[in-house]
Amino acid sequence: MKVITRFAPSPTGNLHIGNIRTALYSWLFAKKNNGKFILRIEDTDVKRSKKIFIENITKTLKWLNINWDEGPYLQSQRFKKHNIFIDKMLSSGHVYKCFCTKEELANQKQEQISKKKKIRYNGKCRNLNNLVNNTKPYVIRFRIPDKGFITFIDKIRGKIIVYNNELDDFIIKRTDGTLTYNFCVVLDDLDMNITHIIRGEEHINNTPKQIHIINAIGAKIPIYAHVSMITDKFKKKISKRYHSINILEYKKNGYLPEALLNYILRLGWSYGNKEIFSLEEMKKLFNLKNLNKSPSIFNIDKLNWLNRYYLNKLPEKYMVNYLTKFCQQKNINTHNGPKIKNLYKIFSNRCNTLNEINNLCYIFYMDPIYSKNILIKQYLNLKNKIILKKLLKKFKLIHLWSVKNINLIVKEIMTELDINLKNVIMPLRIAVTGKNNTPPISSILFLMGQNKVINHLKNAISFIEFNN
Ligand code: GLU
Repeated sequence: MKVITRFAPSPTGNLHIGNIRTALYSWLFAKKNNGKFILRIEDTDVKRSKKIFIENITKTLKWLNINWDEGPYLQSQRFKKHNIFIDKMLSSGHVYKCFCTKEELANQKQEQISKKKKIRYNGKCRNLNNLVNNTKPYVIRFRIPDKGFITFIDKIRGKIIVYNNELDDFIIKRTDGTLTYNFCVVLDDLDMNITHIIRGEEHINNTPKQIHIINAIGAKIPIYAHVSMITDKFKKKISKRYHSINILEYKKNGYLPEALLNYILRLGWSYGNKEIFSLEEMKKLFNLKNLNKSPSIFNIDKLNWLNRYYLNKLPEKYMVNYLTKFCQQKNINTHNGPKIKNLYKIFSNRCNTLNEINNLCYIFYMDPIYSKNILIKQYLNLKNKIILKKLLKKFKLIHLWSVKNINLIVKEIMTELDINLKNVIMPLRIAVTGKNNTPPISSILFLMGQNKVINHLKNAISFIEFNN
C-alpha cells in the first residue's frame, strides 16, 4: 500500500504553528514511507475563505521547504462531483432533506436548554419522503443510525468508541447549496486515496461522523492520528483566533526555516534526547509512534536557541547569501561598508535571529541617529566631548588601522585622563553606533574603517556643541 497523506487547511486565516506542525508531520510521514503528500485547500466556508490566505498557505509551505507532490486542490471546485454522491445517498436514505426553518431550530434549542437536554436536532424531517417535490428551502442532513457505535484506533490515543446516540444528524449541504466540511473531507480523502490522516485533535469529534459517511459509502476507513494541541505558556490553546502569529512573521523576524522546522518537529514528537534534526534526518527518523499524547507548550526561548544554533551551523556561504538578501529587503545598501561575510563572523554567535544581526549591520551602512533620548543625553554631553575630541585626534594619526592600535589609543586616553575603560568606550560606542550594546567596540571600529569612524566622531562632537 502506498502511503498517501494530505495537509488540508481552511483558508480562513494565516497559518500558525499548529497548522504547520500537522503539515510537517503529514509530509514527513509520506516522505519516510516513500509516499505522496497532497495539498488540499478546504474552502467550503465560502464567506470566510479568502484568496490572500491561500497565498499565505502556499508561501509558508514553500518557505519551509514542505513541498507537496499534488495540488493545491480547491475543495469548492469539487462540489459538482460531491453532489452526485448526495443524490445517491438521498435515494439510499443515508441522508435526508430537512425543511426546518431557523426559527424552528432556535425554538427547539431553547426548549432543550430549558429542559436541560442535550442540544441536538430533534429529527422532525427524518421520515419525510425525500422524493416529494417541495419548493421550500432545505438543508441535507446525514442520518445517524439509531443504534450502535463507531470505533476506531487513533495512532496517538488508542481505541476510541463513540455511541450513535451521542451524535446529531449533522448538515452536509446548506440551504445555499454549498457543502459542509465533514462531508467534503470524506469524499476528497476517499477520492485521493488518503491512507493516513494526521491532523489536530480538534477534529477528533468529527472523526465518528466522517466514519459514518465512509460506512454509508462502503469504503475503507483510513488510519487516523490526532495530534495534541499546542498551548502558550499560560496553557491556553494556540489558535487562529487568539494567537494570529502568522508563520511568515517568523521569516520577517529573522528566523531560519531550518530552525523553525526543527523546533516544530520537536514540539510534540521526540527521538530519545536528540534535539537537532537535519531535514534528511527528519525524513528518515519520523514515525507516528513517538508522537506525544499530552499538549506541548510553545517556548520562544527554545526556538531562539535553535535559531542561534543554525545561524552558526549552516554553511557560511549560505548564511552570507541569506543575510545579504535579508538586508536588501530592509533597504540597507550593503555596498557602502564592510563585507557582509565579515559582519556575519563577528555577530552570528552573539545573535538569536537574522533581525538581531541585521540591526547591528545598520551601524556599518548608515549614520548613527542621535535622537534626544536619555542614552544620548547621558553620553553625548560636554564632559564626554573632551574624550571624544581626544579620540578623534589620535584616531586621525593612526597609520595602520587595526584592532590592536585602536585598543592602544583607548588605553592611552584612560591613562591621560585617569578614567576607567567604560568611561572611554561608552561615549565612543554611542558616538559611532548610536547604540549602547554592541559586540567589542574595537572590532566594530576596525570593520567600520578609519574614515567612517572619524566622520561619526566629528558629527557626535558637533551634536554636543549644538545641543549644549
Ligand atoms: N480544514 C480543516 C482545518 O483547517 C482540516 C481538516 C482535516 O484535516 O481533516 O482545520
